[in-house]
Amino acid sequence: MARDPSYDILFEPVKIGPVTAPNRFFQVPHCNTLGYGRPRAEAANRGIKAEGGWGVVCTQEAEIHPSADITPSFEGRIWDDRDTPQHRLMTDAVHEHGALAGIELVYNGSHTPNLYSRIAPMSASAIPVHTDLPIQARAMSKRDIADVRRWHVEAAKRSRQAGYDIVYVYAGHNLSLLQHFFKKQYNQRSDEYGGSLENRVRLTKEVLTDVKEAVGHDCAVAFRFATDELMGPDGLQWESEGRDIVGMLAEIPDLWDVNISDWANDSATARFEPNEGFQEPYTAFVKTLTSKPVVGVGRFTSADTMVSQIKRGVLDLIGAARPSIADPFLPRKIDEGRLEDIRECIGCNICVAQDNMVAPIRCTQNPTQGEEWKQGWHPEKIEAAVSEDQVLVIGAGPAGLEAAMQLANRGYQVTLAEATDTLGGRVSRESELPGMASYVRVRDYRENQIRQKPNVEIYLGNHLSTNDIIELQIPHVLIATGSHWRRDGVGRQHAFPVAGLENGSALTPDDVLAGAEISGRVLIYDDDHYFMGSTIAERCRNQGHEVCLVTPESIVSSWTHYTLEQEKIQARLLSLGVEIMVSHELLEVEAGQATIANIYSDEHRQQVGFDTLVLVTSRQSDDVLYQALLEHENRFKTLRAIGDCNAPGTVAAAVYDGHSAARYLESSEDIYAPLFVREIPALD
Ligand code: ADP
Ligand code: SF4
Repeated sequence: MARDPSYDILFEPVKIGPVTAPNRFFQVPHCNTLGYGRPRAEAANRGIKAEGGWGVVCTQEAEIHPSADITPSFEGRIWDDRDTPQHRLMTDAVHEHGALAGIELVYNGSHTPNLYSRIAPMSASAIPVHTDLPIQARAMSKRDIADVRRWHVEAAKRSRQAGYDIVYVYAGHNLSLLQHFFKKQYNQRSDEYGGSLENRVRLTKEVLTDVKEAVGHDCAVAFRFATDELMGPDGLQWESEGRDIVGMLAEIPDLWDVNISDWANDSATARFEPNEGFQEPYTAFVKTLTSKPVVGVGRFTSADTMVSQIKRGVLDLIGAARPSIADPFLPRKIDEGRLEDIRECIGCNICVAQDNMVAPIRCTQNPTQGEEWKQGWHPEKIEAAVSEDQVLVIGAGPAGLEAAMQLANRGYQVTLAEATDTLGGRVSRESELPGMASYVRVRDYRENQIRQKPNVEIYLGNHLSTNDIIELQIPHVLIATGSHWRRDGVGRQHAFPVAGLENGSALTPDDVLAGAEISGRVLIYDDDHYFMGSTIAERCRNQGHEVCLVTPESIVSSWTHYTLEQEKIQARLLSLGVEIMVSHELLEVEAGQATIANIYSDEHRQQVGFDTLVLVTSRQSDDVLYQALLEHENRFKTLRAIGDCNAPGTVAAAVYDGHSAARYLESSEDIYAPLFVREIPALD
């Protein structure tokens, strides 16, 4: 199909200083924890985005000197010439497809405790390092300032040698020294680098000018700047100092890359920022103050919104991190008039969580993300079927849908049986919870793909039994029958059932999602720590119930710290009037009374009254069918449980499992075989 002419504007080249981007699709720097530890994986990850049509593809933040090393994180590193060859892998992979390659140079200052280099960190002033480590940064001397300027220049020269077309100077996300110099809280200097805004901007101005002088004749110099910190007068605000900084530096960089700080605001989840273009109110002013091109982000997945951003003069280039992760081929699909094939980001931040856990990138929507080199997976290509065998997939949740779709892509004849009358499994139900609507995209993308395939037959309302399956005589069977929440309180805190729950009167999230009646005061016991407990609390509160949430953790939804949502969740529950009891476990339940105890001291017990008790503790696989079929295993060439039926986990894990099962069908007898390659340091 041909491109819709109304999107032509997205494919216009854009001049950025001495280089020209072939189109307006710009993958801004984003972490993937492949970086210097896994350079081949990094190169493959970025190269595929260039192949998918992104006109500019950047690597992640790259440390420029050991005095600001961000160990244990694995981002980029360009300390000296020995680091250059691995960057060359990345730039070659990007250039192969005609895109420009960019690198974000960073000096993290008081953001990093230098756990590897063991050099005392330094910052504008002597302040604690931004972690809970008992380490402080020292105040920089004039000599240190001169060093930081020189290190930027040396790293920029190495970047050019490595083949980069765009070199970034970075003042965003509250991660970089240059941004810290702007902030009065961090910069209490009395010399010409502190005090007035002009003084606080001086170092950035010098670094930008130095870098331009060093590499600006053939590399573009970009400036990544957070215009607002969403902290009101306690932080930088776009209407005042943010605007003034842009005014002071307006024409110095070749490109403005603008966003909001900190990372939790920039990469806000759909639960808290449901709309595309949510940063526009904070960044739209930039173009009025500079003649240089401006790139910005806002979880853009719709071509119409992108065109509107350009036509209304908000942005010149459409920046994306997460939309490029969920669909590395997004630009190509717009170009080819295949909008319905775009795998839209759901704004869940599983990708971010991986980085925060210092693990390689993964994505809920795109199971190939991070596997491009390791398993040789391509987001748009999959090996053809090796036989004409049929495959039966039982259960149409995320795992079953992904498996059926990919098996159909391979050319297998697929039968997809689903017990209920709807596709989607858990995402169809969970997307009804407050802030979770975008999860339905996991279903919609796959359903849309499957419905176009002549080789998938869908049977809804089909609850298959062991005998049904045996009688079908289909040689390959994937069982994706999901999981259910426990009703007995067993979870992370309790290995054995909680006393008083034997009569089954407590509700589980499954009951709540199925519309069970909720009355009066609701007590939620959250020993799961992801989104379920807090979204049920929110929903019950929105329905007018008095709600008390009890958790053994010391904060609400503790795992969402990794998805950058935790503080927002706790603040929202407080603002809704949810009573929160942290560091407490459920000991016993009796006639509308729960006995709870402080987890640090059993002596601190209390009674909490309720009308409805909801237990969000842990899940059990719905694997009865799988276990029964194992008795007849010799009748099948493949018999495998996938997704939550295999082991309850995230939606991302279920999609991955479905994908993996489809990709490796008939390729290996042993699912634990070393199907992937590893990067092993050469001992030279
Ligand atoms: P996952 O996240 O692993 O994909 P879900 O719980 O989202 O798991 O989806 C499992 C799906 O399997 C549900 O839609 C459920 O109705 C369906 N299912 C469960 N048992 C059967 C069965 N015996 N036959 C057909 N479908 C089933
Ligand atoms: Fe989007 Fe979630 Fe994928 Fe990240 S993990 S790119 S937020 S769908």
